[in-house]
Amino acid sequence: MDINFTNTTLFIEALHFAAEKHKYQKRKGTNPPPYINHPIKVVRTLWEEGQVRDHEVLVVALLHDTIEDTETLPEELTQRFGQRVCNAVLEVTNDWRIPREQLKQKQIDDAPFKSVVAKQVKLADLICNIRDIQDDPPYRWTKTRRMGYLLWAEEVAAGLKGCNPHLDTYFAQYLKRAKDSIK
Ligand code: ZN
Repeated sequence: MDINFTNTTLFIEALHFAAEKHKYQKRKGTNPPPYINHPIKVVRTLWEEGQVRDHEVLVVALLHDTIEDTETLPEELTQRFGQRVCNAVLEVTNDWRIPREQLKQKQIDDAPFKSVVAKQVKLADLICNIRDIQDDPPYRWTKTRRMGYLLWAEEVAAGLKGCNPHLDTYFAQYLKRAKDSIK
């Protein structure tokens, strides 16, 4: 199989960069996996289920939590991966200095105005979080809290819909499955 040298180099660079930045972090769950499993799952969801072949979307997916959850500065991303990648990562970065409830509403309100790249990454991110909540919910999350997350995710996803029909379909399926499993 032929590979595009430049794209593959950048993809591997992004994977390595994310692995380094997240190396001391773990996900939530009863038996928490290394954090890097999460961006890998997001990129896999985009590739497999979303059938995304836009290389930039895949690179952004690998890097999507670096600014929000590690010490990574936007300048680092710009320098290594270019301004467009950095801008898209910033689009999916939440500012946790904003009070929690306000931030959740902001994500719902902002969703329709994001770029096509950011929308797809965000939707795949939500799909992965929904799967985690169903398969290995964060420790001490009650049914009410899990359902609350699903209903919120549904509202965010409503604003992200329309740029990747495959992802839209999978989101609806996983959401239904997760809701049914809580009832
Ligand atoms: Zn994420």
